[in-house]
Amino acid sequence: MMILSSLPVGAQRAQHPEIEISRNTIREAMEYLASDELAGRNTGSEEIDMAASFIEGKFNEFGLKPYFKTYRDSFAIGELQAYNIVGVAEGIDEELKDEFIIIGAHYDHVGKIKSVNGDEIANGANDNASGTVGVMELAKYFGVLRENKRSVMFVLFSGEEKGLRGSKHLAAKLKKDGIDLYAMVNLEMIGVPMKDKDYLAYVTGYENSNLAKKFNEYSYEENVLGFFPQAKQLNLFKRSDNYPFYQEFKVPAQTICTFDFSNYPYYHHVDDEVGLMDYEHMANLVENLLPGLMKMSTTEIKEIKLTE
Ligand SMILES: [Zn+2]
Repeated sequence: MMILSSLPVGAQRAQHPEIEISRNTIREAMEYLASDELAGRNTGSEEIDMAASFIEGKFNEFGLKPYFKTYRDSFAIGELQAYNIVGVAEGIDEELKDEFIIIGAHYDHVGKIKSVNGDEIANGANDNASGTVGVMELAKYFGVLRENKRSVMFVLFSGEEKGLRGSKHLAAKLKKDGIDLYAMVNLEMIGVPMKDKDYLAYVTGYENSNLAKKFNEYSYEENVLGFFPQAKQLNLFKRSDNYPFYQEFKVPAQTICTFDFSNYPYYHHVDDEVGLMDYEHMANLVENLLPGLMKMSTTEIKEIKLTE
């Protein structure tokens, strides 16, 4: 029997209007992160530093604590200085707060690439300003509400496009610190909806754990997460920041995504711009991730497990 946690999202919001997930707050953040001013958020650039400061400001506003001395978890890629941004909504249960759920997305992109019609900035709106903003919206909800029993760590990774460097760095560091990681959920390319599916988003590594099944049980909408055959064929499980956490901890660590290879032609392209993002879809997806994630943070035992 599951514990019935807290109030439904609507009732919580009546008490805390500031946790509304709205198209407008999403649009605002997207328009900044994917602006030409930020020049494609290349790891090590001055512009990605502006993105990092922006995220830190939001984490601070939402009441998240830095996990390390500051929100920045620094690492180097050769000469390049890079930062993951790490904030925590500490759990409110004395025992469960030592267990962690990580919710992450990469905020770096590829900077300037081959020019098309005079545009050389790969703005990375879908890849992955969308996931970044999704994580920030979730962070706002958890940070303001403070009902999670387990601790929830929000991470925006750098160096993903250079080979999952930020997540490899952080996973190894947290493993060395000996944290008790329950699960890791990563958001990638959630700016455009999939067509003709009976679920909102797919999870990579679907068959590796009961995450999707449990998540759907925890949710009001039956099918939030589903199985997407191409994700398995292409082994997307190993292609984003979830994977290093699986490797280090051997716990469920999976990516939630709505890019299905036919709904968006601008992967790593200068036309990956905010004008093509569907904010209604993003808000709806984030909204539907809230109950499942909150429930993950409150169940008495760790119900989500790797497949035996
Ligand atoms: Zn990406």
